[in-house]
Amino acid sequence: MELLKDQVAFVTGGTRGIGYAIVHTFLENKAKVVLCGSRPETAQKAVDALKAENRAFEVEGMSPDLTDYASVKKAINEVKAKYGRIDVVVNNAGISASEPLYNYDPKNFDKIMLLNVNSCFYTARAAAPIMKENGGGVILNTSSMVSIYGQPAGVGYPASKFAVNGITKSLARELAKDRIRVNAVAPGVTDTDMVSALPEQTRQYITSTIPLGRIGTPQDIANAFLFLASPLASYITGEILSVDGCART
Ligand code: NAD
Repeated sequence: MELLKDQVAFVTGGTRGIGYAIVHTFLENKAKVVLCGSRPETAQKAVDALKAENRAFEVEGMSPDLTDYASVKKAINEVKAKYGRIDVVVNNAGISASEPLYNYDPKNFDKIMLLNVNSCFYTARAAAPIMKENGGGVILNTSSMVSIYGQPAGVGYPASKFAVNGITKSLARELAKDRIRVNAVAPGVTDTDMVSALPEQTRQYITSTIPLGRIGTPQDIANAFLFLASPLASYITGEILSVDGCART
């Protein structure tokens, strides 16, 4: 398919897990992709793996500090300078933690909010004027099923994802007039490094709580991002799309 032909996409946290699947899926759909990693080496490693698979993939790596607005703005401006446009921003980089409140180091709360929430604001702040000038664009955020009902420990993570939903719904209303759509995908438990390291018994328990009877794959989540980034979703904005096998109910 060529759902994103000639589109320029900027994907944070694109080096592994869900982000890597998003980058791969966008490239297969003929987008040009700038992927971000936390370090230049991890970003380059991901680019090398993608190029090794298909030399025609148009992909490059960057490693801005997503917790610093000046760094994010510089990276987005470099994309605009090189490609002349930026059509899709995917805010996927995120960290989680599950420590109980009684042991919670307040510094860790700040750290989660800074990456999971502030970076979504920073990329939107830097990219939206460019999108507006080009006649429109798409901003996609990675939420979580815990943004629907919270989680029993590690309050910073669900709090950050509730905030991501708030940014999504608010910017959708604010930017619709400029033809910029803003949506989020809320994955359920997804088989990335963190989940595949769990003991088999825990995986089986998690699976038993999911009505569709399996843990999600990064590709399940990437497919939703592709849909929302593409013209197939041209009348959808302000949505939080759950992709969780109905685990939220
Ligand atoms: P992962 O840990 O496999 O990948 C995280 C990505 O974020 C990596 O590319 C990493 O480079 C980047 N990153 C981490 N810290 C960073 C930092 N300080 N600066 C810049 N980049 C940084 O995670 P994943 O499971 O693929 O999760 C991706 C997103 O999906 C996250 O926002 C996460 O909250 C969300 N999510 C994951 C699950 C799940 O079960 N895996 C479920 C719901 C939501």
